[in-house]
Amino acid sequence: MTDSVAGLDPCVHCGFCLEACPTYVVTGDEADSPRGRIVLMQAAARGDLPITDEKLAYHLDRCLGCRACESACPSGVEYGPALEHTREALAKAHGVPWVARLVLAVMAEPRLRRPALRASRLLRPIARRLAGRSRLGFSFGMLAASKMTLDGKTEGRKDGRTEGIGEELPPYRRTALPPGTAVVFRGCIMDDLFSHVHDATERTLVVNGVNLLSVPQQGCCGALHAHAGLLDDARALARQNVMAFRQHADATVVVNAAGCGATLKDYGTLLQGDPIEEAAIAFAARVRDVTEVLAERGPRPGAAVPMKVAVDPPCHLQHAQRVTDQPLKMLEAIPALQVCSPANAAHCCGGAGVYSVIEPGLAQQVLANKLESLAETGADAVATANPGCVMQIGAGILASRKTLPVVHPVEFLDLSYRRAGYYGGGSDP
Ligand code: SF4
Ligand code: SF4
Repeated sequence: MTDSVAGLDPCVHCGFCLEACPTYVVTGDEADSPRGRIVLMQAAARGDLPITDEKLAYHLDRCLGCRACESACPSGVEYGPALEHTREALAKAHGVPWVARLVLAVMAEPRLRRPALRASRLLRPIARRLAGRSRLGFSFGMLAASKMTLDGKTEGRKDGRTEGIGEELPPYRRTALPPGTAVVFRGCIMDDLFSHVHDATERTLVVNGVNLLSVPQQGCCGALHAHAGLLDDARALARQNVMAFRQHADATVVVNAAGCGATLKDYGTLLQGDPIEEAAIAFAARVRDVTEVLAERGPRPGAAVPMKVAVDPPCHLQHAQRVTDQPLKMLEAIPALQVCSPANAAHCCGGAGVYSVIEPGLAQQVLANKLESLAETGADAVATANPGCVMQIGAGILASRKTLPVVHPVEFLDLSYRRAGYYGGGSDP
């Protein structure tokens, strides 16, 4: 395990990262801080601490993997890769909780995932009524939060088709920018619970002159598996995607889920030493968050959306991908939209993949701090570019019986474009 924690060697134990760490802020325990966890991981790598040590597993299980410590660290510590490799060793020694294994197995297999998630979509109206603070109530809240709407204007078409795609847009609606070619990465949860965000992504890209192609053989990115220490499962999924996307080797791979984007951009490292390593590196180089693509292209201004939105940046966008300004630049294209940032925007919401399932107590405490910061902004809505964050923050809001919608930032641009009549149907439907 020694090589895998080499990225921790620059740590000088200065403690600059402590206040950036959401779990340390909640517990005040050094072993729940980045510095404490680094000491534990290094001790395990040296063999001073057996991998079966309960304290090692306990404190690393409580890490969100949010990588806020990396952004705060002046010494360039690479915490994320070391955590994943240590978790792989822990998963082999201690196993992975059966609930997490079940969720991850379903996500990896489309024949199980599609019917399960599509059936759960039917439960959304009931889930909203059953949302609450108990473990079950929070799960219902997460499901209900997977589709919240901005004043009822962002619902997709009832026939499930994506407006503007495959239809000839009138010339005046085409952007003057040179066209690009892209494929939207559909993922697992995004594809089945957030297809409305995919629709919004595709519509806004088309208005900004992007030609869209499709790759039907693509699948789950493997992020949740990698975070749980199941690196072999993550590698298998990565291989499948790298091979599938060779179909359109020059197209940009557009991602609208920060967790997926961070993992896809890291496929070269994940598949290091693999026979398809070179293809993985080439694939990773063409992955972009949707906000990167739209910010780069302008984007084209839309109609007014007079609301105040609090933009909460997902950890895997700001800390792992270092994409920070692009979501704000994209939203600048919307007249009358007031954008604000919550205090401690760099802190995780507690979603963190399957973390809220495995560590519900600490996840709730971390979420409480986030909800307080968001409430202080006085915003009419929250925008965050990751499905896990939408569901975690949304469930927290529903549990407190508030009506603040939580959506993906691209849904705001989509609403603005719809109001501008760019989709061929005039203003609001
Ligand atoms: S990880 Fe970085 S910021 Fe944290 S204690 Fe080590 S050197 Fe300091
Ligand atoms: S990844 Fe997040 S939770 Fe884990 S040590 Fe770093 S800042 Fe703390």
